[in-house]
Amino acid sequence: MRPKRYPTFRISFLNYLPIYPIQSNPISIHTGAHVTSTNGTANGSTNGTAKGAALTLDQARRYARHIILPEVGSIGQRKLLASKVLLIGAGGLGSPAALYLAAAGVGTIGIVDYDVVDLSNLHRQIIHGHSNIGRPKVDSVRDRLADVNPDVEVITHNELLTSENAMDIIKGYDVVVNGSDNFPARYLVNDACYLLGKPLVDGTLFRFEGRANVFLPGKGCYRCLFPSPPPPGAVPSCAEAGVLGAMCGVIGTIQAVETVKLLLDLGEPLVNRLLLFDSLSMEFREVKIPRDPECPLCGDNPTIHELVDYEAFCGVPATVLG
Ligand SMILES: [Zn+2]
Repeated sequence: MRPKRYPTFRISFLNYLPIYPIQSNPISIHTGAHVTSTNGTANGSTNGTAKGAALTLDQARRYARHIILPEVGSIGQRKLLASKVLLIGAGGLGSPAALYLAAAGVGTIGIVDYDVVDLSNLHRQIIHGHSNIGRPKVDSVRDRLADVNPDVEVITHNELLTSENAMDIIKGYDVVVNGSDNFPARYLVNDACYLLGKPLVDGTLFRFEGRANVFLPGKGCYRCLFPSPPPPGAVPSCAEAGVLGAMCGVIGTIQAVETVKLLLDLGEPLVNRLLLFDSLSMEFREVKIPRDPECPLCGDNPTIHELVDYEAFCGVPATVLG
């Protein structure tokens, strides 16, 4: 039997070598032509156009394990550095998502949260430390991410996301990661992202279960699944029902992975697919979630054309995030 050959690895390995030349700093490392796979099927950044400034020597070292991937390469890394991602909530899901996106070199990370760090947050909101109790969460996130990766600019939005400010805040970003755990915020973010044409990476947690999926404009939205919220009190919040802290790491990290895939146009995103995770049985399942032509927001005859009063719509206030 002939051994299987890995031409893309060979190319990427060769490509890896010049990342550490003895030259003055900064240096310009490879462009896409050097990292295109030999079979010509690599998608995303390798066939794309470089964005932003050339990588410095420090950046080439920091992101070496990205750059060696033919599907990322230096062009992909530069795309990440030029990307802007907004995190809704600096809580259980936002914590791992923010850490991995910052470590990945997403150049601008916005964070919306109006809460302060509480002792009861720390069993799951791993971006915050004990010394941050009482501080605004956005300040805690900003300081932590500055240490994770000084390449990242953190934009803090220390306010409640509302019908009045959502469009202005979200419009400046490429992808939105939803880490909210209340219905007003969930519907608000869904509607604003659809109306602005922004990809939304969604995630939710409940006790020992989590789920994740991606909404792309024109390919379904949260209202295709749930046109209206459940009656107030029908679904308990994390504060009421509890959540296994490490679950946040699973789902929040999946959100970070999906975000990087979207930014680099890699692989198959969780679009029209709802990923369900049961930690007790340690099972992942997937449910198809097609776009609903009857959806009031993204259907063929939509009735929602602008943001509404979400607290009135849901019958509950937008309270704690994540
Ligand atoms: Zn829809």
